[in-house]
Amino acid sequence: MRWVTIVRFSEVGLKGKNRGNMIGRLGQNIRDALRGFAKVSPYHDRVFVPLPDIDVWPLVSERLRWIPGIRNYSLALRSPPDLEAIHSSFLQLIPDGGWQTFRIVAHRADKSFPHTSQEVEERLGAIVKEKTGGHVRLSKDADLSLYVEIRPDGAYCYTERIDGPGGLPVGVSGRVVSLISGGIDSPVASYMMMRRGCQVNFVHFHAYPYLDSSTIDKAKVLVQRLSRIQGPSRLHLVPLGEIQRQIVVAAPEPLRVVLYRRFMMRIAEALANRDGALALVTGDSLGQVASQTLRNLSVIQDAATLPILRPLIGTNKEDITREAEVLGTYQTSIEPDQDCCQLFVPRHPATGATLQQVLAAEAALDVPALVEQGLAGAETLAYQWPASHNEVMVG
Ligand code: ATP
Ligand code: MG
Repeated sequence: MRWVTIVRFSEVGLKGKNRGNMIGRLGQNIRDALRGFAKVSPYHDRVFVPLPDIDVWPLVSERLRWIPGIRNYSLALRSPPDLEAIHSSFLQLIPDGGWQTFRIVAHRADKSFPHTSQEVEERLGAIVKEKTGGHVRLSKDADLSLYVEIRPDGAYCYTERIDGPGGLPVGVSGRVVSLISGGIDSPVASYMMMRRGCQVNFVHFHAYPYLDSSTIDKAKVLVQRLSRIQGPSRLHLVPLGEIQRQIVVAAPEPLRVVLYRRFMMRIAEALANRDGALALVTGDSLGQVASQTLRNLSVIQDAATLPILRPLIGTNKEDITREAEVLGTYQTSIEPDQDCCQLFVPRHPATGATLQQVLAAEAALDVPALVEQGLAGAETLAYQWPASHNEVMVG
């Protein structure tokens, strides 16, 4: 008998011809996340991770918990496919106390196995009842569920299925550039795109040295957290303060924030083109703040050619907050900061800017030169996961 983690796929199994690609990618992502302490064997309907030692299980579990494309996973005991061995596995898995009723759920993937699933359930049920004094309860309400999957290479027994994030494996949908502030929403939006199979590169705009570097520090911590989900990650840090200063000098006060955002989009798009990304991502949620009215969103979209994806557009703040708590980004996001949009913030920001007004204001600015200036000041940091947790400057 030995310990094995069984990993079950999410939608990966449904994708027809692409299935092989998807499973290959998921297998590789799991292999990368567990490199150095567990080997990974992908099959057509499962990934198996034999554990060299039960002590590595907490670490394996913590990593699998966050890998997109995983529907759920179980810590299982593998034994020869016979009733005697299966029953020994069960006795090893059954907790000492804390339960009274149990059920057995058998699945026979190997049709050459001599007993039907129902026979397996009945025979093992009788043995477990006799050995433990527990009562059989044939429903999900049973205190304890004992599962066995009988496959040609062995029987896998387990008691629990732990949920993964679901969705698609990172890498199958291409690359995007996500605009990450220091706030609650953008890390959640980035995670949602990872869960749809995107590799996410990050860009953060800051007003240092006009404001302090607090949002830079937060963006770094957030990207580090998100790199645990997708693996190696890149963060571009772009100074916006000087551009904002010129906007303030040249443009009507109520338009400032929309103009800041249009410059963010232009610079993000240039970085996306360099990075080979196919779309931009923001944490906008409709109507949440002045820059997120439909009118302003459309004026902001106009500054970019790439699609701007807004996975949170129809969600409520409470739901986003709950996601951020589970994701583990919330505590960082709520730390006080000096966001660049607070620099020269207008008293009455426009909620219904028109493109005409915005274009007229931008006519007083040398837009391409300002974009170049932002790009020239950009720094890029790389985050490795899991090999090392340190950031490395790459540009
Ligand atoms: P968040 O919690 O993500 O900051 P928010 O509700 O505070 O969102 P805004 O500040 O209006 O909303 O920003 C909307 C979106 O614009 C953010 O989710 C993010 O994608 C992008 N954004 C805003 N500020 C920055 C910034 N300084 N750097 C990069 N992206 C930004
Ligand atoms: Mg914000």
